[in-house]
Amino acid sequence: MTDLFANLQTLRGIGVRRARAFQKMGITTVNDLLTWFPRRYEDRRAVKAIADLVDGESVCVRGFVAAPPVVTRVRDGLDLLQFPVTDHSGVMRVTFFNRLWIKNTLAPGTAYVFYGKAERNLFGSAMSNPVAERADRQEETGRIWPVYSLSAGVSRRMLCQGVRAALRECATTLPDVIPEEVRRSYGLCAAGFAYENIHFPENEAALADARRRLAFEELFLLAVGLRGFRGQREAHPVEAFRDVDMSPFYDALPFTLTDAQRRCIAEALSDMRSGVPMNRLCQGDVGSGKTMVAAACVYHCVRNGRQAALMAPTELLARQHYEGLSALLSPLGVRVALLTGSVSAKEKRAIRRRTGEQDLDFVIGTHALISDGVEFARLGLVVTDEQHRFGVAQRGALAAKGQYPHILVMSATPIPRTLALSVYGDLDVSFLDELPPGRRKIQTYAVSGDYRPRVYRFLEKQMAEGRQIYIVCPMVEEGAEASDDRKAVTEYAYELQNVFPNRRVLSVHGRMKPKDKEAVMSAFAAGDGEVLISTTVIEVGIDVPNASVMVVENAERFGLSQLHQLRGRVGRGKHQSYCILISDSRSEETRRRLRVMVTTSDGFRVAEEDLRLRGPGDFFGERQHGLPPLKIANLADSELLRQAQTAAAELSPERYPLTVRRAAELFSKSGTA
Ligand code: ADP
Ligand code: MG
Repeated sequence: MTDLFANLQTLRGIGVRRARAFQKMGITTVNDLLTWFPRRYEDRRAVKAIADLVDGESVCVRGFVAAPPVVTRVRDGLDLLQFPVTDHSGVMRVTFFNRLWIKNTLAPGTAYVFYGKAERNLFGSAMSNPVAERADRQEETGRIWPVYSLSAGVSRRMLCQGVRAALRECATTLPDVIPEEVRRSYGLCAAGFAYENIHFPENEAALADARRRLAFEELFLLAVGLRGFRGQREAHPVEAFRDVDMSPFYDALPFTLTDAQRRCIAEALSDMRSGVPMNRLCQGDVGSGKTMVAAACVYHCVRNGRQAALMAPTELLARQHYEGLSALLSPLGVRVALLTGSVSAKEKRAIRRRTGEQDLDFVIGTHALISDGVEFARLGLVVTDEQHRFGVAQRGALAAKGQYPHILVMSATPIPRTLALSVYGDLDVSFLDELPPGRRKIQTYAVSGDYRPRVYRFLEKQMAEGRQIYIVCPMVEEGAEASDDRKAVTEYAYELQNVFPNRRVLSVHGRMKPKDKEAVMSAFAAGDGEVLISTTVIEVGIDVPNASVMVVENAERFGLSQLHQLRGRVGRGKHQSYCILISDSRSEETRRRLRVMVTTSDGFRVAEEDLRLRGPGDFFGERQHGLPPLKIANLADSELLRQAQTAAAELSPERYPLTVRRAAELFSKSGTA
């Protein structure tokens, strides 16, 4: 019996050379091989009489070679092998391109099975390059056939042999990570059966069972892993915060809080008073007022004699938070400081000393500074903004600093409720699903490139009124080099400068140093320039209340939630704001997606639509959620997700150490923990 996580070479038939070829595909362990699931399947079971063939249908024909094969050289490098095949109903012409050796495998008077795409027209029936094998030795036909992703060094045959060996030596003998009682409650097949049938399905029903079981397993382990993170934190009781008089804080606000803000604050304060470290996500659309939720928590924490920290993803955002929050909190006696890279060394030292002596109550900075620079005398709360940039691991790292502060994360990427549970399974989630009153809706338009002249005229008008404009253009191609990104942005900026010769066009791209990028964005925020062109870097929000238009080029290349995120960059001031989505795509799907943007401004609804139309990958972008990649499960399958979560919640970890270990490995292997 082999260990699932043993190197491939422990399998019979896999030596150094094969192992190396597999490794190039990212397959290093037995488990990698077993979970190299087929990309799709071909149903090679149906057999049809030649007379009944339908053009374009993939099917098997059972028949005899009716005449000796004929070789024709069409031109250099293109040889044809042709022969007729008969069954009781008719004749079919079979053609092979450049596969002359097949001639030697065909014997007269022997029955063969040919599987391929039937062609049928006036001249009769035919098949090109079918799979051909003797009817009494069917291996590749007569069953559901798995189709794998392969690479240069790894043939299908090699892969199947490897999988067979892995199945033989592991899958049926190893203990199942899904406890038997869970399998019974949710009607799941055993691991051995599942792996066997996902690779070599006996029939459709077995394949469906296998797939459901393996998807369940992934979601289940995910949920168990996330619960493990939660458990680790909850195992460290902290001093419960006292109930303090919050009225000075509420009285200092220039507005009344929305019901949603009140609810989120109540949830967070009650966490902090519970004696267990808070681990809460507050998610709400841009502009929903998350900062005030954070401010209330900070006030509560400081009044409890503890210190608070707020981490923003960029210096600019940190500074903006500092300006707003110190104006609100300093008069209430909270001692606030800003700690970013641009603060002088001397000042930094002073701030560090003061946090160490609890001479400061609240420090605002970027993630890096707070995570490795500063020692707090009595840290009670850490707030992180724009959570979707940080993974599960970073959250864990914070806890590991030893003080087990309460954690509040704020995210402007609304995630559908069902999904939030799994993606943030280690967090409690508050939904800030209401905007402060009096917000003007951002007018959104979806137009084709033909409208560009009109769009430019509109932009000029807005700029004449003193407004600023964002323009987002995506990278040239998916997976293109970052240098192409620079080129795209630079060329676009050049063009636009010609369109608006009297305006200052700024640009940022992915190849710039963070410092230079921030300098450009700060300049824009300060009003030094009317147009800011970028790729999606401005997704990490800066607050420019004077910006009133967001133009997105090639809008079809962005996910809905991403578009929504971009749209949220405008409409932050008192001016009516606009979002213009430019796309020349005629695909029905794109039109439908852009239509959602035009008609909906609620981020939660956009997210639900996004999930429905494109599945979950889309609105997280490339692994932004910080979860291990899923190989077979789909986070949009909310029913299975719910079942897996329920099962994970009911699992007693002490009884199933194997399951817990595998769940933990899931996170450590993918580098997220
Ligand atoms: P978010 O961080 O959720 O995008 P902010 O906290 O930056 O939103 O709030 C956006 C703007 O709305 C800020 O100018 C803030 O002062 C204002 N604001 C917050 N809450 C309210 C409220 N209840 N009523 C009116 N304005 C509010
Ligand atoms: Mg914010």
